[in-house]
Amino acid sequence: MEPTPTYFRHTKIIATLGPATESKEMLAELIIAGVDILRLNMAHASHQWVDDAMWFIREASNEVGRHVAVMMDVKGPEIRTGKVDAPIDLTTGSLFEFHIESAEPTGDVPSVSVNYPGLPQDLEIGKTVLIDSGLIQMRVETKDDTHIRCRVLTPGTLGSKRHINLPGVFVNLPCLTTKDELDLQAGVRAGIDFVALSFVRQAEDVRTLRRYLDSLGSSAKIISKIEDQAGVRNMYEIIQESDAIMVARGDLGIEIDYHRLPLVQTELVSMCQAEGKPVIIATHLLETMITSPMPTRAEISDVSNAIREQADAIMLSGETTVGKYPLETVQVMKNIIDSIEPSVKGVLNRAIELKEPKSKMLRSAAVLAQELGDSAIVVFTRSGFLAYVLGALRARGVPIYAFTDVEPIFRQLLLPWGVEPFLMAFSDDPEQTIANALTMLKQKNWCKSGSWLVVITNALANEKVIDTLQLRQIE
Ligand code: PEP
Repeated sequence: MEPTPTYFRHTKIIATLGPATESKEMLAELIIAGVDILRLNMAHASHQWVDDAMWFIREASNEVGRHVAVMMDVKGPEIRTGKVDAPIDLTTGSLFEFHIESAEPTGDVPSVSVNYPGLPQDLEIGKTVLIDSGLIQMRVETKDDTHIRCRVLTPGTLGSKRHINLPGVFVNLPCLTTKDELDLQAGVRAGIDFVALSFVRQAEDVRTLRRYLDSLGSSAKIISKIEDQAGVRNMYEIIQESDAIMVARGDLGIEIDYHRLPLVQTELVSMCQAEGKPVIIATHLLETMITSPMPTRAEISDVSNAIREQADAIMLSGETTVGKYPLETVQVMKNIIDSIEPSVKGVLNRAIELKEPKSKMLRSAAVLAQELGDSAIVVFTRSGFLAYVLGALRARGVPIYAFTDVEPIFRQLLLPWGVEPFLMAFSDDPEQTIANALTMLKQKNWCKSGSWLVVITNALANEKVIDTLQLRQIE
């Protein structure tokens, strides 16, 4: 069954899978609703769950005739508290203790274990400790090799296995933990398309993950999550080394001064666009829709801002994992994209430096397609590179129809802005390949008879393969 495309969208939608959406029926609905990439968050997932989810996703995709890519999000160097027998009430001014797992609590103040034995060494006296997305704040008062004593600054109730943030502290945990490696093995076996790595602090973290994926024989693309001060400080080198970036605003909004978050978001988006790398805006875009059928006015503005900044993708987390309205959140995102995208200026991305003659030709293709109006670009790619660059050029109003004969590349092309990928066998004869592509576009209702297309392809000239930019009209 082929869905009829109703409209074209530049901005892609990512949804995180969870209890609200993991059934095959819900997955089919999410895919029909327009989700481009599904995210498996490994904070709470088992390997059996990964296998089941992957099976259901591929089954649902095949049934509805629309494909989605899968991103595995691994936790990286995350610090969590241990289990507590009962929730602990913490009052302002009281003392609280963290102890490493191999040590006993001191016993005179409430205490909880932490999963990182190096924490007492990394944390200096006077540093801030934030628990549960910053809801509980403490300051370190004293410490020894195994225990840390803090003064509670903001009261709250501490449950089991809570996430700890340490603004401005360089944590000496490896960028890839043993759990991450096991999760990646399961993900690669299941066929993931992207890996998002949490708390990327330096370019070397990305290289470490790339070496590990290579050792597993995986060509999954790497999305670096920027979510702490070291990641922000080293953003340029991280972007250079990564395939894409996620502005992970959940943690980032705690790890840096919250009022600087929009500045850092804009800086990351601009730098990614200059480097031709896709960028994802994540977390709290439609948070209130976890329980409410309508977004707040502020959320509508936040989503609009990401679209105006021309981020490649916007991501749903709690809204689709545990929310009451997962399908409605996707619809709300689509409605906002639909209204806002046409209002964004159609100025091409001039910041991106195109070095090779063939890359420079892509800019000419974008200019020509915009000049023609009601046009599109057709590109043939085996590595995905040309389509990623075309997406980065931000030719507003110009769909990029990217044809590939490599299945993993086909799914990886679901991320960049404005790229609509197609999987198709290539003929030895470039002319036949173009004819097949144009027929497919017409059959699938992406183009009407008479539409002009700018085609980037190889051609034979005096028995030599040359790069060409051609103008074609759909018959
Ligand atoms: C975030 O912090 O914004 C994020 C996407 O990461 P996680 O959901 O893993 O906390």
